Amino acid sequence: MRLSANTTLPVLIIYTGGTIGMQTGPQGLTPGGDFATRMQCALATLPAGKRQLLPDVDVISYSPLIDSSATTPLDWQTLADDIRARHADYAGVVVVHGTDTLSWTASSLAFQLRELERPIIVTGAMHPLETPGSDALDNLYGALRFAMEPAPAGVAVYFAGRLLHGARATKQHASANDAFISPNAPPLGECLNGPLARKPLAPAVKEVLPTDHTPADYRRVAQGEVIRIALWPGMAAWQLDAWLNDSRVKGALLQLWGAGNMADDPALIDVLKQANDQGKLIAAVSQCPHGSVDMSAYAAAQGLVQAGVLSGADMTPEAAYTKLVHLLALPLDNATRRAAFMTSLAGERSDG
Ligand code: ASP
Repeated sequence: MRLSANTTLPVLIIYTGGTIGMQTGPQGLTPGGDFATRMQCALATLPAGKRQLLPDVDVISYSPLIDSSATTPLDWQTLADDIRARHADYAGVVVVHGTDTLSWTASSLAFQLRELERPIIVTGAMHPLETPGSDALDNLYGALRFAMEPAPAGVAVYFAGRLLHGARATKQHASANDAFISPNAPPLGECLNGPLARKPLAPAVKEVLPTDHTPADYRRVAQGEVIRIALWPGMAAWQLDAWLNDSRVKGALLQLWGAGNMADDPALIDVLKQANDQGKLIAAVSQCPHGSVDMSAYAAAQGLVQAGVLSGADMTPEAAYTKLVHLLALPLDNATRRAAFMTSLAGERSDG
């Protein structure tokens, strides 16, 4: 689809579903088709000065289109495989996605597509494209602008005027247009009314994963093998045991209190230690969106360290969870997985 006279490489848009493309049906909003034509109509309403800055685009629509609440790890891998297979023909890729699990997909792509030398911009909207005053048009415009930038590469989320690191973003509002933040990392750029402002996507990262490994296979982790447990006051050891002791579970993300605390209950620690001794990969982040776990700060966290629980530092739950999934989908030994979890693979943690 030719939107402008631009002669540089086009941008690939992959439309997966979500509110941005939804239309009203008998049971409420459901993902609507013919996104390419509908998007073109919407972009045609932009002032000429903005239209001229847009890249040419090719659009792929997934089938079926989904509400992103139905996304699974297999969808993350399908999307990454599609982007990997096609990106070389494009200046960049825009993934159009539902907002509910957008930050999960963006985090997963950040781990899966570390080697790509193209910008991959994930966006969506809080309102359908055709709703008067919708945020969809601005989000598409900004995402396309950032996707045609020659450098730097990497996965980012574009939403409400801001470009956020793909493995640092989280949805923080259920209805406001400004729904995404990256609580522990400054925005990477802005696209308001003037020129784009953009910072480097991620600091250089150490390579801890073997480069000759066979590809990740997300079928290993697509049946609930990685779990997520947020603590609550009074959580009992039998409850933790019911989750962690299931032989199908291979990894777990704990969401601890504050700077990384859990009740000083030997029975809880014992359950964690047993799971760790069985080779399960167990990591922890905080329930607080801002700040970092520091398991050396309080005596209450010492048992966690001894039980083998890995610190997720200031990672979002999305990044920590999708990182566990990715590491468990790779054919690695436990020691390599543990070392890789503690290292920044895609700029997702500040201390690695
Ligand atoms: N339920 C929708 C989805 O995630 C919400 C949205 O796109 O804003 O697909």
